[in-house]
Amino acid sequence: MKSKTLCEIAKKTNIKKKIENYAELVKDPGYVCVKCGRAAADKGNLCKPVKI
Ligand SMILES: [Zn+2]
Repeated sequence: MKSKTLCEIAKKTNIKKKIENYAELVKDPGYVCVKCGRAAADKGNLCKPVKI
């Protein structure tokens, strides 16, 4: 099963309950999603990643 992007995770889950996992994924971000405006360290976690 393909892992979900942060974009999908953020839309479908309550971030407050997953904040530790989420914080780990978004700390020290190198990419931002131009579609959703989310940031992540790994471009694989975003649906439209652009390097920042
Ligand atoms: Zn996105």
